[in-house]
Amino acid sequence: MKHPKYDAMVVVAYCSRNKQPYGITAIKQGKDWVFDWSFKLSEKALKHEGFSANKVSGNIFHAEKFPGCPHCGNQSWVQCGQCGKISCYPGEGIFTCPVCGNSGEVTVGENFDLSGGGY
Ligand SMILES: [Zn+2]
Ligand SMILES: [Zn+2]
Repeated sequence: MKHPKYDAMVVVAYCSRNKQPYGITAIKQGKDWVFDWSFKLSEKALKHEGFSANKVSGNIFHAEKFPGCPHCGNQSWVQCGQCGKISCYPGEGIFTCPVCGNSGEVTVGENFDLSGGGY
């Protein structure tokens, strides 16, 4: 994947309802990242583009126009503590990871390391 001129990248997330992947455009602003936009991804595009290698770490904010999950409209997202994948989240209740099946209470975090490491 070519490095873009501006500091932005696509982070891969999964819908917690239909387990389909989607991309989130993240723009770097200083030390922070802003989730700017989201769009549906096919498994094929996912492999082809190599998005899953992208890494985002630091504070993450949502742009005002950020549409949430393009599959189901959930505005929130969480990072699974077990597999490190991001998925959409309705905002409350028990979360079940669509990727690895891990489930549990959601804790609020401010600092993320979306490279897939533990926290
Ligand atoms: Zn969703
Ligand atoms: Zn998981």
